[in-house]
Amino acid sequence: MKLANKLAFITGGGRGIGRAIAFAFAREGASVALAARTRAQVDSVANEIASEFGVETLALECDVADAENVGRAFARASEQFGGGPDILVNNAGIAETAPFTKTDEAMWQRHLAVNLTGTFHCTSAALPEMLERGWGRIINIASIAGKTGAPYISAYAASKHGVLGLTRSLALEVGANGITVNAICPGYVDTEMTSRGIANIVAKTGKSADDALSTLKRASPQNRLVTAAEVAALALLLASEEGRGINGQAINVDGGTVLF
Ligand code: NAD
Repeated sequence: MKLANKLAFITGGGRGIGRAIAFAFAREGASVALAARTRAQVDSVANEIASEFGVETLALECDVADAENVGRAFARASEQFGGGPDILVNNAGIAETAPFTKTDEAMWQRHLAVNLTGTFHCTSAALPEMLERGWGRIINIASIAGKTGAPYISAYAASKHGVLGLTRSLALEVGANGITVNAICPGYVDTEMTSRGIANIVAKTGKSADDALSTLKRASPQNRLVTAAEVAALALLLASEEGRGINGQAINVDGGTVLF
């Protein structure tokens, strides 16, 4: 068991990548606290995991963009588990598309608030105890849009570039304290977020859903979407003892779409 006696706090754990990471960690013995906006989804994942793996779980309704919400969620987790998380996965995220001229300030702020400031809030809540303990893992689910740009995603890409800046700086700051801070940069993953992207392409271009899906697949030289389980496999390596040499990295899981 690679994560026995570890507590993982996973944001956006109710579906998609966060759910897959929660399963991968629980399979290796971790207790998991799942925090997301949609209560019913985190409840159901927490129940499934508890009955399948017999680990302790906690479902928390939490908007990561709201510092008070995050403070309450971490306090509740600490109360149940007797301490803060050993592993934090900043996975909660939103993605909307629009040409820059239609990207209004509200859309811009939403992306920064959830994707970037949400990561800041949860990291601020988790880090002090990791420093005290002299062990910690912070895993930020960024995107290849954190490394490169694409049309119609300026707000999303800016927020994910920000996540990489935070990851790299914090990794250097806490590297001597037994804590690693890394980012995972997926390409298109087969989750609801991508299904919504496909629906959006269909609505805006009149393409069929199959054509839209083919376009997204072709962004990868493997001509396919990545699976959430593939992202989770890397998260597990980063979370484990074996991953301790990997710090400050932004690792792509994209089939080779982006080569830096
Ligand atoms: P998803 O939409 O299926 O799930 C997102 C999760 O985040 C949900 O559980 C949702 O409730 C939660 N969430 C959203 N806003 C929140 C908030 N304010 N507070 C708390 N929780 C919130 O998406 P996914 O595909 O599983 O994406 C997970 C992460 O991976 C995101 O950060 C996303 O940007 C990133 N990512 C996804 C893809 C992709 O193609 N799906 C590609 C690259 C990166």
